[in-house]
Amino acid sequence: MRCVVANWKMNLTAAEAAAFCETLLERITPQSSMGQGVEVGIAPPFTMLGLVSSLVRTRGIEVFGQNGHAEPKGAFTGEVSMPQLRDAGCSGVLLGHSERRQFFGETDAALAKKVKAAWQWDLLPVLCIGETLEQRDAGRTLEVLGQQLSILAETGPGPLRVAYEPVWAIGTGRRAEAGQVEEAHAFIRAELQRHLAGTAYEVPILYGGSVTPDNFPELLAIPEVSGGLVGGASLDPVKFADLVAQAG
Ligand code: PEP
Repeated sequence: MRCVVANWKMNLTAAEAAAFCETLLERITPQSSMGQGVEVGIAPPFTMLGLVSSLVRTRGIEVFGQNGHAEPKGAFTGEVSMPQLRDAGCSGVLLGHSERRQFFGETDAALAKKVKAAWQWDLLPVLCIGETLEQRDAGRTLEVLGQQLSILAETGPGPLRVAYEPVWAIGTGRRAEAGQVEEAHAFIRAELQRHLAGTAYEVPILYGGSVTPDNFPELLAIPEVSGGLVGGASLDPVKFADLVAQAG
């Protein structure tokens, strides 16, 4: 199954989000790629989850949190729990985005708990993994990906998407080369098989990092690339609708 997920990060106001949804819905019809089995998701900031859910979910577009806490409630100022994401209309949640790992100290141990909490509340986790440029230059890419995926040995199988996002390709305009993507995705598939056995092939692996309508068709042609997690280009509804159409 192909998946295209928009990560708005800390961008857009409510009015801008509503305008985005209006344009997107004009361009995406059930007859277009969504009718071809493409899973489309939008991950807005927390403040706009309810609004975006109310605008797009009846049209088959899923809404994702950009993060979620492992505990269902309690004294965690500034955090949002998995049941609160569900309550706001989410069907999934991004977990372990490199900006969460880099700027907010998100660890693999915390992510294992978050993946399990997401499943407990019937949310689809999109587990983001990827190496820094320093790690790639040191020849450690596969080791890092293996470490980040090792949490699956603890969580066991469940509904999941994995997004391979080389940190150096996020928001830089420098997307990974086809050979680099192919190697990483093949390795991720093998690791999924090691940890999840029979269910490994049910896990689509998305690529993320400077995806645009100009480079997405080439990325989609790479073995084991099942779609994209898109930041910058997903802020433009016309470009995002083009990406969805390309995935169909
Ligand atoms: C992202 O935020 O996950 C991302 C891939 O960003 P961009 O598309 O801007 O590189």
